[in-house]
Amino acid sequence: MKYAYLKYPWGSEWCGMMLFCGKRNILLDSAVEEAFFPFLYDELKKHDLTVSDIDIIANTHSHGDHIGMNEKIVRFSGAEVLSFQHGLQDSSVIDGGDWRLEAIHTPGHSADSISFLELESGVFFSGDTFEGRGTRYAGVALYNDPAALLQTIEKVRCFYLDGRIKKMYLSHAYHETGGIIDGADVPSYLDLCRDTVLAYDRFIRSLPEDIDISEAGTLLRKEFFICEEVMNPRAAESTVRAHLRLKAAL
Ligand SMILES: [Zn+2]
Repeated sequence: MKYAYLKYPWGSEWCGMMLFCGKRNILLDSAVEEAFFPFLYDELKKHDLTVSDIDIIANTHSHGDHIGMNEKIVRFSGAEVLSFQHGLQDSSVIDGGDWRLEAIHTPGHSADSISFLELESGVFFSGDTFEGRGTRYAGVALYNDPAALLQTIEKVRCFYLDGRIKKMYLSHAYHETGGIIDGADVPSYLDLCRDTVLAYDRFIRSLPEDIDISEAGTLLRKEFFICEEVMNPRAAESTVRAHLRLKAAL
């Protein structure tokens, strides 16, 4: 089983993808459209492949920076597309002959988030599910359902404790990770993800009731500072809204 972790440079960030090669070739996520040429061609060439050799694209979720090349790849290769919207369910297994990927439903960042676990190697690709302290794109961790995310964190911890996850690969350079979490560091990274959600929740609850959402987003970024400049200063508002929805529901 051969696999490669691809990182397409994107502003001050990058978008991660995962390629598993063999009898069938699968690309997990497809970054943004402009990654198609020359980036994808060059990366595939390193494995003696071209775009027409891609048999399957499986997406971790439907955000634009994860599905951007889907259409172009399908046009060139006729690849099958799999995702939560395209038939994947929790525990679905995609069998590529030389690799087998289990889809694990991991909601929190988005309701349709899926992570992929390669069953022989324990390689685990979790998309945007586990953002730690966030990226230079948003300056905070992004998710739309903090309660679902906390459950997902414990679900994946069980997979780790069962010895099934050996190495985690992430979709972006979440603060201080570089995108890869080695096996022994998985529990502490999951703790960091959990503690970040809980700390955001305490902070957002402490803000005045009538605070403006965009001001709350700015305050959240300042409180949990990871960098000076972010690519999308308004992105933090979606995490604020998610905590306000939770607060209203309880
Ligand atoms: Zn996303």
